[in-house]
Amino acid sequence: MYCETDEDLCELVNRARKYTEYGKVANYIPALGRAEQSDLAIALYYKDGHCVKAGDVEKKFTLQSVSKVLTLALAIMDQGEEEVFRKVGMEPTGDPFNSIAKLETQIPAKPLNPMINAGALVVTNMIEGRSTHEKLGRLLTLIHDLTNNSKIDVDHGVAKSEYETAHLNRSLCYYMKQHGVITGEVEELIDLYTRQCAIQVTCIDLARIGMVLANKGRDPLSNRLILPEGIATIVKTFMVTCGMYNASGEFAIRVGIPAKSGVSGGIIGLVPPNIGVGVYGPSLNEKGNSIAGVKLLEMLSQRYQLSIF
Ligand code: GLN
Repeated sequence: MYCETDEDLCELVNRARKYTEYGKVANYIPALGRAEQSDLAIALYYKDGHCVKAGDVEKKFTLQSVSKVLTLALAIMDQGEEEVFRKVGMEPTGDPFNSIAKLETQIPAKPLNPMINAGALVVTNMIEGRSTHEKLGRLLTLIHDLTNNSKIDVDHGVAKSEYETAHLNRSLCYYMKQHGVITGEVEELIDLYTRQCAIQVTCIDLARIGMVLANKGRDPLSNRLILPEGIATIVKTFMVTCGMYNASGEFAIRVGIPAKSGVSGGIIGLVPPNIGVGVYGPSLNEKGNSIAGVKLLEMLSQRYQLSIF
């Protein structure tokens, strides 16, 4: 059974919206604090191009940690699987996304996985390009291809706000640089990372990216291969094991779809072989996931039996 109409989704959004009251909008990146706590939106993108949506779907938000999925794909395309996983692990962590604790217990300071900040910084450090501008341009091109939306760009206000306050991420970088896990100038890496996190999308864009991943990296509407199938598979598997930070286990049980969240309140999800999901709800739970967004996905998954398990 498929969710076919906006009305079907609308009912779920209306039921889930009350949960926005129980969370908080992130404000450790000051510009994110301006989001509307009660916003909630969802879009489903099907392989045939059909898109159903409900809630505040026109709202734009920044990718934040959702970008980690895309930089991982790009870094593997650039460096190959072996080189990437020489520097970043494949194991989930029970720690928060910005934790530094495990770096000191791993030798040589190799982050556990690419979905936590330390791992994502290592991944971003591996993107090819002669300048930050060129590296960011390559990431944007990938996103334009996946979304079929060439208007997508960086929200410079959010990027600047994070750049000015990213002291914890800087400390992760300096620690890893000392241990030879990252190379080059930390400030340049933080500049690129904060820009990648500030790429602005809608939940429809996320749903379309999810749909291409669900279809093994090929855009079914243009029939163009955007990501090699093996790389799409790696990325989807990380979404299952690490995509919702230290709530990934509970999310797998309650929702059962590969997903990745970000502190702006975005969640990208997918149901192989043909559905992409995009959610926006900036009110977050204590683990940094969209509180109403997770609830909404739980309702959706139960009603339409979307769990991949
Ligand atoms: N830009 C954010 C940070 O590094 C991304 C974190 C997130 O979305 N969980 O803190």
